[in-house]
Amino acid sequence: MRFPQGVELDEAKHQIRLPKIGWVGYRKSQDIIGAIKNVTVIRRGDKWDVSIQTEYEDKPPAPTPSEIGIDMGVKHFATLSDGKVFEPLNPFKREQEKLAILQRKLARQKKGSRNSRKTKRKIARLHRHIADSRRDFLHKTSTQIAQNHSTVYVEDLKVSNMSASAAGTIENPGKKVKQKSSLNRSILDQGWYGFFRMLSNKLERRGGKLIKVDPKNTSRTCPLCGLVSAENRKTQASFACVACGYRANADLVGAINVLRAGRARLACGMSGGVRPLSAGTQRDLLQH
Ligand SMILES: [Zn+2]
Repeated sequence: MRFPQGVELDEAKHQIRLPKIGWVGYRKSQDIIGAIKNVTVIRRGDKWDVSIQTEYEDKPPAPTPSEIGIDMGVKHFATLSDGKVFEPLNPFKREQEKLAILQRKLARQKKGSRNSRKTKRKIARLHRHIADSRRDFLHKTSTQIAQNHSTVYVEDLKVSNMSASAAGTIENPGKKVKQKSSLNRSILDQGWYGFFRMLSNKLERRGGKLIKVDPKNTSRTCPLCGLVSAENRKTQASFACVACGYRANADLVGAINVLRAGRARLACGMSGGVRPLSAGTQRDLLQH
């Protein structure tokens, strides 16, 4: 429910006065800046969230002029072209066992009984915890990247398509359904889609931008000599060029190629295939 007016706040006592309800205690998650415009109360699990919309003059910080490419992955959440790696949180996977135990317990309990209501509350609380930790992780990661870079290139994975299409249709069953749906589950669990949205918003607020590039060949192109070959990628984790012998972590190579494809796209308006670099740029990139 939303209260457009009549809300009072006592920040020292951690109390909020809601119309027709009166003063209630709350736990403060962040400072409230500006004039209160309206207040929304939402039930989530067995708790109530109060979100306070305010209005104030905002001066966004100046953008840090820096370009970066990101390779997204299930094993390593995000690898940056400067070598920085963000490990994934996988909140659902982590709590899966706990959730399964609770769900089995609920199935055994009598419907509508006091104990089954108790278990239901525990399940709701766990779901809430999973959602909260995922959101927290995505916010922290996207903030850190947006603070340090102004132009960020990511692969255009069409994430929503990817997570919908694995099963295919009856006439046209999807290929590798099992592997794909497991990959999809991981992508949804890690929240890539929400991550791109948060990152894009945070960059734009600072005058930067998120640019999606065609992921074609980003995992198979040698950043040193430009050879495009599936043979360059003998294993999931490492890259070894069959022509020039360049070796590196495969995710890092992916991120460097995403950066290059993005620069190429910006430079000449093309859709961003990867091409060999000039010697100077090669040195810049490979120093990392
Ligand atoms: Zn090479």
